[in-house]
Amino acid sequence: MEWGFGDIEEPQYKSGWAWLDIRGTKIRSIRIIGEDVMAYKAHWSSGKMRMCGGYGCPLCEAGLNWQRRFILAVKDLKNNRNYLWEIGGATARKVAESTEWYGAIAGITYQVARQSESVNSRLVLEEVGFMELKKEEQINKEIMLKIIEELLGLPSGTSLIHSEY
Ligand SMILES: [Zn+2]
Repeated sequence: MEWGFGDIEEPQYKSGWAWLDIRGTKIRSIRIIGEDVMAYKAHWSSGKMRMCGGYGCPLCEAGLNWQRRFILAVKDLKNNRNYLWEIGGATARKVAESTEWYGAIAGITYQVARQSESVNSRLVLEEVGFMELKKEEQINKEIMLKIIEELLGLPSGTSLIHSEY
């Protein structure tokens, strides 16, 4: 239990995980807690990101462009909650650079905020360090897939991995 309306925007899921929703210029400290990065193709349609259905996808057939999106497991160091963090190419490139530098992705710590209060304003990302995580502290691929399925509301067993990606 917590006091206040702080998390009102974040729906509660069975697993206790939520999507990391970075709003406004208030800085959040987050640490990546899994080595696995899930990548998927998505279309921006009707005001939201929709996962590309792959072969025969109606949005592809409608001629919509696609972009690559990435999902990482992170922990908010202030409220100690776990989140899935979905990022686009520009942010992913910065994370990839840090990963190259440290030789690992789990443990990289960032301060993130938006450039302005506007919902769609650019994400400002500053790497603030690295803490080596033990294997048992890390979120593995299997757990991550379960969380993604739960947060996307997919029936268990749905394949998120499309070989043509
Ligand atoms: Zn598609």
